[in-house]
Amino acid sequence: MFIDSHCHLDPYTYENDDPALIPAIIERARAAQIDTMITIVASIKDDNLGYAMNLADNYQEIYFAAGVHPHEADEVSEEILAQYATALKNHPKALAVGEIGLDYFYNLSTPENQRALFRRQLNMAKELALPVIAHIRDAHEEARAIFREEFSGNPALIHCFTGTAADAAAYLDMGFYLSAPGIITFKKGAELRDIFATLPHERILLETDAPYLAPVPYRGRPNEPAFMVETAKVLAETWQLSLTEVAKITSENTRRFFNLPAV
Ligand SMILES: [Zn+2]
Ligand SMILES: [Zn+2]
Repeated sequence: MFIDSHCHLDPYTYENDDPALIPAIIERARAAQIDTMITIVASIKDDNLGYAMNLADNYQEIYFAAGVHPHEADEVSEEILAQYATALKNHPKALAVGEIGLDYFYNLSTPENQRALFRRQLNMAKELALPVIAHIRDAHEEARAIFREEFSGNPALIHCFTGTAADAAAYLDMGFYLSAPGIITFKKGAELRDIFATLPHERILLETDAPYLAPVPYRGRPNEPAFMVETAKVLAETWQLSLTEVAKITSENTRRFFNLPAV
């Protein structure tokens, strides 16, 4: 059984309003042995938070995380941050603050606002005693400096890790976890695959980031949790372990990181 530690199960990110879509995706995940999914509230628009809480209420295998993405740092309001904090504090299936961080690749919000929001939400996570799921793109060094200042000794997961071997080592030194995206199945993903081959197994999680980044052989299609098995197969190859062992190791890591009950 596998855990998808990071997916976006909502009509907004899938850009598809068909009410049957998400239930069908969850059905296919079950059939593919994905026994737990953590849906990440990706946008402050369209009541995505309400949608995630509703899914968590209705499906035993769904948990959620909420945080304001760096893309929306220019748009966020006090009201939204308060709403997120309340949900995270009160909902029994809220696991983490995320995804939060810095994205200097797209720079959809100003770097100043991204940094301020990142600091703010790290402190929110400390107050709520929750781990964070970080989205860091083209900003690893600066992110680590902020983590050291605001979040030292607290648990963080660098989701969809695509940094260098040196970045990975630096995060592991800080006690952080890293999650392997579908990119490791890509032809162009050889370098990242080689990095994951050398990392300590007990700090690695699996994710889809669905609907984005579908792994081979599903490239070009909207991604979904069921497809994560392909990423797991590649990780098994690079670690020279069986698929069952990879499922066990990555599921245990995910449960430990998010304080999920053991099964
Ligand atoms: Zn992300
Ligand atoms: Zn994401």
